[in-house]
Amino acid sequence: MLQMGILEVEVFDIWGIDFMEPFLSSFGNLYILLVVGYVSKWVEAVALPTNDTKSIVRFLRKKYFSRFGTLGALISILNNICLRCKNREETLIHAMKDCPKAREILVAGGLNDRLLDRNYINCIDWLEDVFQDLDNKAAADFLTLLWNNWNDRNNTVLKRKMEAVVKKRWTKPPVGCVKVNVDATVLNGCTGVGAVARDHDGFVIGGCYNFQKTAMDISGAEVEAFKVGLKLEKNLNVGRLIVESDSAILVNAVNKRRLDITILGQCIRSECDVFSSFESVQVKWTNRNSNYAADFLCKLAIRNENDLYFDMEYPMDIHNIIIRDAIN
Ligand SMILES: [Zn+2]
Repeated sequence: MLQMGILEVEVFDIWGIDFMEPFLSSFGNLYILLVVGYVSKWVEAVALPTNDTKSIVRFLRKKYFSRFGTLGALISILNNICLRCKNREETLIHAMKDCPKAREILVAGGLNDRLLDRNYINCIDWLEDVFQDLDNKAAADFLTLLWNNWNDRNNTVLKRKMEAVVKKRWTKPPVGCVKVNVDATVLNGCTGVGAVARDHDGFVIGGCYNFQKTAMDISGAEVEAFKVGLKLEKNLNVGRLIVESDSAILVNAVNKRRLDITILGQCIRSECDVFSSFESVQVKWTNRNSNYAADFLCKLAIRNENDLYFDMEYPMDIHNIIIRDAIN
């Protein structure tokens, strides 16, 4: 059996299937079909009159395909370009059977041509035909093939997603807007916060870093960075403001501040009072790569153990980052 590398396994990606047999007839049922999710350990059992593959298909269709979305998240993949062959829409039947890469795996696994050649629109119809054609042992091998194919597909998709995240960079705000990136670092018992404001051309219009000789808790430090960023913008007389932070906790706390009854929520609410002095304020999450300039300012604060406020004459240490972001 062909085996492929596995990067990650979702709940219900893999399941084992077996008949317990035969029992004394109960309402005409002689067999118990047992399905176990390998990851979730979820067990599903059903009493059946026969132990043929038709029963398996009927069971899968009714219980699994409707509830768990087929071998993991098969249903969610519709209507995207296939990342493996890159020239077809990735429908379910494409991902499982028609993609050249899927075909390769199925053929290498010994699935016979007759079960591959016919065209299907719905994957379930193909599966039904295959299961009808195979005995229980061959059906189990076929399920393993599907699983290998599915993992191969997920490995490809995951790799692309990772590349997209790594490549993601800072983006310029729209004309008439200023974007301020804020960040905080807690290191060696010290805290550094940084903020840098840039216009729609990516030019620095101001920024700062602050140093504290105590280790704040990281959420508190991110709030401090946010506060510093807003203060900076208020002094720069900005109309439309975008604040970017790579702290999901901070961004969520700001955007849900009216519902947040925690101390952090209260603290954020009072910081956000200053929003009324801007025409508009958006607070957005960004990944670390896009927030590199602010991150570097935090590191500078800790390295230099001081505070710094600057205008267009920003510290040379962040020059390369600013240029790289601006020509992006
Ligand atoms: Zn494909």
